[in-house]
Amino acid sequence: MELDDPSQQQQQADDHHETESTCPKQQHSENPEKDNHELKEQKQQPTPESATIATDHQEQTKKKDVANKSTNSSTSSTSKIDKTPRVDSQLSKKQHIQREMDALTKSVKVLRTHYQLVDKIGSGTFSSVYKALDIRYDTYDNSWWDVSNPSSDTNSENMDETGNTRRNKKADKQQQRFVALKQIYATSSPKRMAHEIKILQDLRGSSCISQLITAFRHNEFVFLVMPYFQHNEFKDCYRNMTMTDTKYYLISLLTALKHLHSHRILHRDIKPNNFLYNMRLKTGMLIDFGLAQSTPQLISSNAGKPPKPLATKSMNNGDENKTRKPGYIKNDTRKSVKANRAGTRGFRAPEVLLRVTHQTVAIDIWSVGVTLLSILSGRFPFFIAHDEGESLIEIASIFGMKEMKECAALHNRTFETNIETIPAVRKSLHKLCQVLNTEKFKLWTEDNKQNVLNAMDLMEKMLALDYTKRITAEEALNHPFLSDSPLPPSLSSTSSSL
Ligand code: ADP
Ligand code: MG
Repeated sequence: MELDDPSQQQQQADDHHETESTCPKQQHSENPEKDNHELKEQKQQPTPESATIATDHQEQTKKKDVANKSTNSSTSSTSKIDKTPRVDSQLSKKQHIQREMDALTKSVKVLRTHYQLVDKIGSGTFSSVYKALDIRYDTYDNSWWDVSNPSSDTNSENMDETGNTRRNKKADKQQQRFVALKQIYATSSPKRMAHEIKILQDLRGSSCISQLITAFRHNEFVFLVMPYFQHNEFKDCYRNMTMTDTKYYLISLLTALKHLHSHRILHRDIKPNNFLYNMRLKTGMLIDFGLAQSTPQLISSNAGKPPKPLATKSMNNGDENKTRKPGYIKNDTRKSVKANRAGTRGFRAPEVLLRVTHQTVAIDIWSVGVTLLSILSGRFPFFIAHDEGESLIEIASIFGMKEMKECAALHNRTFETNIETIPAVRKSLHKLCQVLNTEKFKLWTEDNKQNVLNAMDLMEKMLALDYTKRITAEEALNHPFLSDSPLPPSLSSTSSSL
């Protein structure tokens, strides 16, 4: 575990999907223009019907290549410019983005008539996200999703009748015209795209969850349109968060999860990059349902059968373990266990790392616990291992051998390691955070010691190794750390939908 320089670690916290569930089968249209299916009226399904199985790391690399190629092919004028190094070197990042957006607008008819791209705000293996102006905003009734966007907040500083307030209201009204346009590449399977849309549709009206305004398809690309949500980057604000900020952050995130989990949906990729938080408005928005799963699908066909031994490399059994140097077994002959391991490294629950086939909504709560650990320890990302074996070792270095063995046994696995520095019993998370975040801890404790103790207690309950004992989103919202806190302004006006 590297705990020294959080700024350098940030890079590694970026989206990293490792999944066994997708393999693109692209369908190319002979008539691209005909394929611009607006979903505003929900008349047609935007995604082709094809679904396939499972790939691993190598496949992900291939997908990245395909993604790059797909992007280039869709922005052919950009590609031409990129091939000229002299021009390329003179172009600023901003100009590059502008050219990319111009090319995209040129090739996608709906963009020309409906959305004016203003900035690129995210890009990953499976998608690019743009900030865009909804040109036809006034043509539609947007009230249902404006309400859930905190830009329309009427309870905070916008309430008093000063000149400032009016300016804020006007600015906020302007903000509502912006949307986040998520362009999903063909590298994501059609099944996965359809699933993301279906989940967003099912969750319409839920507080703290990104609302789907509409969706459309252009050739192999699917576009999701969501309200643009102004937010603070977690990496810029987690070190400055007060205990009150932390409470509001958690209340919004757990409220989103409470909704999600009550629909028996598992997000599977909970992390700060997928939860947009606005410090001023004290509220947040859960996004990115690309890996989300409905729980009935989580029960795999081999549930109930005795689990097979694991091939996770840093685990080993027997006498050989004592004589071998610490490290990996190069040629592990044990049969590999297949389980959904999608998610982001550092945020995966122990049962995901142990490749347990039956996974529950509790894996999302573990990820919230890791996020809280970042806030309380002042270290982000907290866990940085590159593979499952290393990740288990990182967790074991805090929770100790005894509990790791018990956790593994719960899932009919064994956990062994000859790394001597791993403690027999768990370290105190409280002490760990105190050591790593001494100054903040002093301030927090001086201010309200009980608050700190409550925060620690909640974090420990979220980071229960045994998923059956892990606190639920609803229970967490009623935990003393959060229950005495007033609801964030945006939630107190929409609490009926909780
Ligand atoms: P990916 O599947 O590529 O991770 P996400 O849906 O997580 O895509 O979006 C990537 C990034 O785009 C986010 O981290 C955020 O910065 C930005 N983004 C996504 N949706 C919105 C939104 N509704 N409002 C503002 N920014 C957004
Ligand atoms: Mg994401």
